[in-house]
Amino acid sequence: MAKILLVDDRPENLLALEAILEPLGQELLHAYSGEDALRRLLHEDAAVILLDVQMPILDGFETAALIKQRERTRHIPIIFVTAISKDEEHVFRGYETGAVDYVFKPFNPDVLRSKVAVFIELNEKTEQLQRQTELLKDQELAEVRRESEERYRFLAEAQPDQIWTALPNGELDYVNQRALDYFELPFAELVESGWMNGVHPEDLPHTLEHWQNALATGQTYENEFRLQRAADLSYRWHLARALPMRDRQGAIVKWFGSNTDIHDQKRAEEAQRFLVETGATLGSSLDYRATLAAVAKMAVPRIADWARVDILEDGRLRTLAVEHVDGRKIELALELSRRYPEDPESGQGPPHVLRTGESQLIAEITEERVAELAVDDLHLGLVRELGFQSYMGVPLVVRDHVLGVISFVAAESGRRYGPDDLALAEELARRAGIAVENAQLYREVEERAQAARVLETVGDGVFLIDLDGVVRLWNRAAESITKLSRSEVVGKKAGDVLPGWEHAAATVPLELDGEERWLSITGVAFDEGTVYAFRDLTEERVLEQIRQDLVSTVSHELRTPLAAIYGSALTLARPDLDLEPAMHKRLLEVIVEESSRLADIVNELLLASQLDADRLVVHIEDCDAHTLAESVLEAARTHLPEGMRVELDSVPGQLPRVAADEGQLRQVLANIVDNAVKYSPGGGDVRVRLEPVGRYVRFTVADQGLGIPLAEQGRIFEKFYRLDPDMTGGIGGTGLGLYISRELVRRVEGRIWVEPNDGPGSAFHVEIPAAVPSEARNSPKRARASA
Ligand code: ADP
Repeated sequence: MAKILLVDDRPENLLALEAILEPLGQELLHAYSGEDALRRLLHEDAAVILLDVQMPILDGFETAALIKQRERTRHIPIIFVTAISKDEEHVFRGYETGAVDYVFKPFNPDVLRSKVAVFIELNEKTEQLQRQTELLKDQELAEVRRESEERYRFLAEAQPDQIWTALPNGELDYVNQRALDYFELPFAELVESGWMNGVHPEDLPHTLEHWQNALATGQTYENEFRLQRAADLSYRWHLARALPMRDRQGAIVKWFGSNTDIHDQKRAEEAQRFLVETGATLGSSLDYRATLAAVAKMAVPRIADWARVDILEDGRLRTLAVEHVDGRKIELALELSRRYPEDPESGQGPPHVLRTGESQLIAEITEERVAELAVDDLHLGLVRELGFQSYMGVPLVVRDHVLGVISFVAAESGRRYGPDDLALAEELARRAGIAVENAQLYREVEERAQAARVLETVGDGVFLIDLDGVVRLWNRAAESITKLSRSEVVGKKAGDVLPGWEHAAATVPLELDGEERWLSITGVAFDEGTVYAFRDLTEERVLEQIRQDLVSTVSHELRTPLAAIYGSALTLARPDLDLEPAMHKRLLEVIVEESSRLADIVNELLLASQLDADRLVVHIEDCDAHTLAESVLEAARTHLPEGMRVELDSVPGQLPRVAADEGQLRQVLANIVDNAVKYSPGGGDVRVRLEPVGRYVRFTVADQGLGIPLAEQGRIFEKFYRLDPDMTGGIGGTGLGLYISRELVRRVEGRIWVEPNDGPGSAFHVEIPAAVPSEARNSPKRARASA
């Protein structure tokens, strides 16, 4: 129903209008003034206004002008009703202010009614039009909304992530196809069950907490959790995020969320972290068994529910370590490997990995497979109890050899191994291999160091010559035996520093430092060269030589006098020979002489052995050198050959006395003088000179005999040494005389040596310390000096 506003200051006029318009069946509003009309129009809509022109305060024109000024009322048609203003000016003014018609009194009621009816109808049409326009607008809006929704859905479908929207209460109202594919569920079912069903049990509590919290506070939802993929039942890490969409009033209308698969990234991070953590453990032990046991420990539970390390020993795999998430199942796992060792020819598991040197991945161990492989019911029972689900075996390679196999098994966790896990396991095994190798290398280095220490302390000389013939090692004993320092030898070619070493076999004489040393060398070749060990046999060699010399000397030297005695005795005993008294006497003399020579030889041998054993008693006393020398010469003169002279060059009483064992000193001098005579087969003079030299008295015995080559001058003092051992020159001797002399002189702190004589022959010198005068000996000063 439309409203018609009737404005007139006179109630009777209003009544009259009402009566006329009543039949139109519309609502009639009354206003008694211009202001009244404006007030009513503030909250009423009118289809048409009938406005009286002559009114006090605000007349009809002014009221119309105000109505036309107002936006809300501008369009309302106004019909002026007037009795007076019939002139043209009035009419014009009326139209100017927006009137649509003019009705003059007295008016025809029918005309007025029909005029008003036209405007009512017009108003109705306008309103209808307006309603239609609005309806159209709504439809368009809906279309736009649908389009935009479709666009974002399209966007959502195009995403690689799972996209979803949820109602403010958290109920899903949309998920993209990718999500449906992941869970392999139709939308209705997914909404019904919610995807909490697919969340890993371990992640469920925090996931629910985060989501509830977001719903309650309207804050952004963010969470990391594992969602089970229907295709292979594996759990994959996802990052979920959701933002609320709000209306103008700020109320949440919808949640827009996404689940991004961050599994690979997360695994890579975890793997990296895991490897970093294992690094420290792997490096911490030098015992490779401990290292490998640690590997098994580290793998559980991070990459496996149980892990086992088998290593190759005597051609067989032996279980070194077993680790299980469930401590109680370790025994079970051990029992399994003890009772049912894998067939070395098996096409899977550790034997296979060992044989091929390649890792093996069995992503899914089915129940049928388990049953098929079981040896018997007990075996099947054990395997079932352990709940194998997925297996990885990786070779443990150390120095290019497969040392063993590390096995990882997924059981209670329900995880399934994939290529990523295998890569991680391989990396772990690689690092374990390096750790074992390092431990082995370290041990070798330690052992080498230990060996080197031992080599330093052994008494045998040890050296190493590498394949290039370079000396690589030269121990302390080698240094001291050869007098060649390490720096002179190590790093040099063996041929340069040790001439003749390559022929070194058994015992060889080696000229070292001008001295002949006998070395016994043995060599052992190994991969990197040859190690030689040698020992100085010089001393033993000398002893051996002495033994041989003794035998030959004794047999030779004793045979001569014995033969003479025997011959003389036999001749004397012959009954058939009538010996002349002179001959008889001569033969007896021979027996006496040769017997005494035998006695001398025996005495010399005895003395030498006493000296060797250091059992000779020495009585040092003050002796008069001159008297001693004189008596020695006198004795010598008794058996001087023809044409030889022995002379003493000394003045009695002018020499200090000497400190010596008189008997022994006499023996030394007698020996030298006897030699001087003996080794002067061509005759000549023997001069004996006595003189004080420093705190010594020097005896010099010079002959004009055979002389001694320079090189032999040291050696003649050696035991049994003779220049002419085979006595080709016919001069006999034991080679003991000078040895005994040297030993005796040494015992009184004297010296003995030989020099060539001026001209032919030799000059032997013996220096004996002068005796300390008795009065001086008693003074404390001297005593201290000689102490
Ligand atoms: P032997 O019993 O052989 O004389 P010695 O020990 O007394 O033993 O002497 C050792 C060697 O020294 C002798 O064999 C000899 O060759 C040499 N010899 C010793 N004295 C002389 C000398 N005056 N002139 C030459 N050669 C000597």
